[in-house]
Amino acid sequence: MHCFNHPKEAIGICKHCQRALCIECCTDLKDGLACKGQHEEEVTHLNSLIQNTKKAYSSSPKASLFGPVFNMFMGAAFLGFGIKKNYEPFLITLGAGFFIFGLAIAIYNTKYFKKITTNYDA
Ligand SMILES: [Zn+2]
Ligand SMILES: [Zn+2]
Repeated sequence: MHCFNHPKEAIGICKHCQRALCIECCTDLKDGLACKGQHEEEVTHLNSLIQNTKKAYSSSPKASLFGPVFNMFMGAAFLGFGIKKNYEPFLITLGAGFFIFGLAIAIYNTKYFKKITTNYDA
C-alpha cells in the first residue's frame, strides 16, 4: 500500500476519506489518522461523535428508568390523592393511567435492553 500523495509506503488510512497516508502526510489524533492540514477537524469531530455515542449507550439504562419511575410515582400520587378525595373517579382513573403507562415503559425498556445486550454478546 502506497501513500495517496507520494510513492512512499503508507503507514495508515485517513479516518475521514479512507486514503492511504505516509508518515509525512498524516496527523495522529490518538483515535485515528487524518490527512495533514486537510481532515484533522473532520476526524476530531468523528471521534467526538463516537465518544458521545458510547457515553449515551452506557448511561441509557439509568436514563430509561427515569421515565417509568416518574410516571409510576405520579400515578401513585394521583391515586392517593383520589382516595383522599372520597374516591374521586377522575383522579383514580388518571392515577391508574399514569401507573400503567409507567409500568408499560418499564417492561418495554427491559425487553429493549435485553435485545441490545443479546446482540452485543453475539
Ligand atoms: Zn483525509
Ligand atoms: Zn505521503
